[in-house]
Amino acid sequence: MTDFTSATDADGVAVITWDTQGKSMNVMNQQGFEDLDRLVGEALADEAVKGIVITSGKEGSFAGGMDLNIIAKMKDEGGDDPAKSLFEGVMDMHGVLRRIERAGMDEKTNKGGKPIAAALPGTALGIGLEIPLACHRIFCADNPKAKIGLPEIMVGIFPGAGGTTRLVRKMGAMAASPLLLEGKLNDPKKAKAAGVIDEVVDDPLAAAKEWVLSEPKIVKPWDEKGYKMPGGAPYHPAGFMTFVGASAMVNGKTQGVYPAAKALLSAVYEGAMAPFDTALKIEARWFTNVLLNPSSSAMIRSLFINKEALEKGANRPDVSDQTVKKVGVLGAGMMGAGIALVSALAGIEVVLLDQKQEAAEKGKSYTADYMDKGIARKKATEEKKAQVLGLITATTDYAALAGCDLIVEAVFEDPGIKATVTEAVEEVVGEDCIFATNTSTLPISELAKASKRPEQFIGIHFFSPVDKMMLVEIIKGKETGPRAVAKALDFVRQIRKTPIVVNDERFFYANRCIIPYINEGIRMVKEGVEPALIENAAKLVGMPLGPLQLTDETSIDLGVKIAKATKAAMGDDYPNEEVDEVLFWMESEGRLGRKSKAGFYAYDEKGKRQGLWDGLEARYPVAGEQPELVDVQHRLLFAQVLEAVRALEDGVLEDIREGDVGAILGWGFAPWSGGPFSWLDIIGAPYAAERCDQLTAEFGERFACPALLREMAEKGQSFYGRFGAEAKAAA
Ligand code: NAD
Repeated sequence: MTDFTSATDADGVAVITWDTQGKSMNVMNQQGFEDLDRLVGEALADEAVKGIVITSGKEGSFAGGMDLNIIAKMKDEGGDDPAKSLFEGVMDMHGVLRRIERAGMDEKTNKGGKPIAAALPGTALGIGLEIPLACHRIFCADNPKAKIGLPEIMVGIFPGAGGTTRLVRKMGAMAASPLLLEGKLNDPKKAKAAGVIDEVVDDPLAAAKEWVLSEPKIVKPWDEKGYKMPGGAPYHPAGFMTFVGASAMVNGKTQGVYPAAKALLSAVYEGAMAPFDTALKIEARWFTNVLLNPSSSAMIRSLFINKEALEKGANRPDVSDQTVKKVGVLGAGMMGAGIALVSALAGIEVVLLDQKQEAAEKGKSYTADYMDKGIARKKATEEKKAQVLGLITATTDYAALAGCDLIVEAVFEDPGIKATVTEAVEEVVGEDCIFATNTSTLPISELAKASKRPEQFIGIHFFSPVDKMMLVEIIKGKETGPRAVAKALDFVRQIRKTPIVVNDERFFYANRCIIPYINEGIRMVKEGVEPALIENAAKLVGMPLGPLQLTDETSIDLGVKIAKATKAAMGDDYPNEEVDEVLFWMESEGRLGRKSKAGFYAYDEKGKRQGLWDGLEARYPVAGEQPELVDVQHRLLFAQVLEAVRALEDGVLEDIREGDVGAILGWGFAPWSGGPFSWLDIIGAPYAAERCDQLTAEFGERFACPALLREMAEKGQSFYGRFGAEAKAAA
């Protein structure tokens, strides 16, 4: 069964309909390109056909993009010369779209040809917009929920099927830059106002048919003599300013670590100075260059292929559907309020319980505020707000939890309180109910002791703020059974977040890796490393926040609390006295971080972050000799990745895909690298092991090379080679 079909109506309009089998949204694959090309060719050759409309069989959307596995396949098929096969594969795509654009016109005179319009019922992303951009006119339904754009940059590539070249020629480099460089998506009206699409109408198919029959002019401006790029080509004074500015902006935003942004800019700049077909070739060469960069492959693997696999339940036990119908959220504080919100947004009935009615109502009001903001930004309506709020019952009465099939507990971080609420809940819920705790530090297996049904007890660890953070860590206690895991995974799927499933050890996975990063930064302050060097080194290697800023954001008293608890648990083995010296002193000075408007950074009265606090250098003088940037960066990165490797060795992580996806979504680990395991694969195990030895000699045992990494270095193995994309590491 093919994804593309064509039918010619009585007026002579061939309607080519795209309908990917078995998917809710169209996705382009190799066969799809061939079928589209063939159907367009047949319609152009058919004398009965006056014009062509390309549309979608899916309600509310045209296409979600390309199946990026195509790229991996093209690369593999190239054997020793992947660049050649990638370039040729990309040029084949250009050929298909260029044949649509030229539509049978005479090469020299631009005469003849048939009009081809795109009729979009809604969302058009990636290749789903690149195809319409090759058509002669784009009609889109007035569908405010639809998203139009080219988000490729978000997974480490750029629009490489002509989208870059066409958008810049259609809109000008300046106007196209947020769409290309930031992957900005617009609703249809905004996309029309920006000049990405041409018409927003009630019935795009009818409008497109009418248009193709109206004998419209179909030659693209760039195929006509005397074409000038809107806003000026690079050698034009205005164009010059654009490119100088864009270059600075790209470097500022990406810190030079994302190859795709730079390659995109090069494709645009060089392409702008060449005829259209040459520009497409230039685009294809830069696209190939990006696809061959290990960073792009790692980003595609983690942020597209593996993220999707995890969301689809790659590690879900084979248990019947566990879709959640009614969830009880215990504790309506910061986390509980957020969990209630995302659950109600997913259409799940929520009982939000706290000790006092007032507290429960306050938690519910978080959802009301969220919806109000949505209404102000025209993303939601009063009806939607009423509907979502209608799903949440704020209460103090445990009896209201009857009928819940999942409980998520988010009360104070205190084992005694958690045990009391667990017992109280089990009095009222049915035997089947799964109980999840959102604890960030307490062992799940210990908390499960309060439960009569430990096999139904699990950790579902959200990150703050719940509505923004995409990762959810699911933690199996010693006795957690498969149905509890399936329930947690089905819940995470319902609320459209990305799950990782890990085993129960101190700090689980994400916090276990981020704490050493923070500690390494603070340790360097104590050593006399210039604080600005620490912060900038982190950002220049792609971390979203430097360790000192991150400490300010999460709060210094929380750091102190965690340090004390860790020390109590580890006794004499505790390795972080140096860090605590700084941390405890900061707390004693009342510098608790952003919330107290004083931390490693200084803040103004409104709480806006200013520069690094100068009092820090007064207490910890900056050493005369400063380390090399790369050494600071390696300390910060190795602190995290070695912990990830240890988590794999300890069996906390069972799947390196979860380790990589979880690191990027959970704490923003240098996304360009594809995650800790991908980064180690990029630098190679032998070099990583050698660096561990150097860092250990200079800075201590915390950098000791894990046995697994040492063994891999000796055998010349990579993580993805050894543990396979599909295979489970610990299996
Ligand atoms: P919070 O103090 O904002 O909220 C806790 C809520 O629980 C309060 O409203 C309190 O009244 C209520 N509560 C306390 N005892 C109760 C009881 N016996 N019955 C009913 N309600 C009770 O705390 P929070 O930041 O939302 O954290 C809650 C849990 O989530 C903790 O276990 C914490 O470790 C975990 N967590 C927090 C974060 C974070 O960033 N804050 C992140 C992940 C997990």
